Amino acid sequence: MSDSSVTLVPERIFIEPAERDEMEKRITSWLIEKGWIEPDISDCVLYESGGRRITREGNTHISGCEPDHDLAVNGFCVEQFDAKNVFTNLEGGLESAVCPQCGEDIVEQFYDMTEQWFTDEGNPLISCPSCGKSSDIREYILDPPWGFCQIGFVFWNLWDITDEFIAEFTSVLGEPVRVIWAHL
Ligand SMILES: [Zn+2]
Repeated sequence: MSDSSVTLVPERIFIEPAERDEMEKRITSWLIEKGWIEPDISDCVLYESGGRRITREGNTHISGCEPDHDLAVNGFCVEQFDAKNVFTNLEGGLESAVCPQCGEDIVEQFYDMTEQWFTDEGNPLISCPSCGKSSDIREYILDPPWGFCQIGFVFWNLWDITDEFIAEFTSVLGEPVRVIWAHL
């Protein structure tokens, strides 16, 4: 089985560092208190900085099914970026990227559009190569979805993620998130 991650990404693009740190602490403490991740950092994610291993209870609760075997990579960690960041689905790339204004699939051009958005200051509107109208990058309908935020909460090698868990998570976080699956 190849490794995959599911990252919960706020809708906001920019979040001040102090607020990001506070969110990271709040979510991590909540997951530890619930017994869904181990308190200590170990080598259980694909980052050198490590992560906190997801417990059996955590896997069952978050995935909605019993884990049937133990995996070396099965942890939780938080990623933060000082510049803006795009959480992509990695390996598979986008199937489609649909303009919210004209409904055209402009997936071929979307990578360059994202690159330009990333390079420019702030959160510039990006214009559709088909109709020429400008939209917020978050309004393009992407399949599979991408996230645009300076922080993401990453779970490695979950079997699935339930709507109930996402609802609990957003309630503790206090704002909506996107669910970004990535496969290596
Ligand atoms: Zn368009």
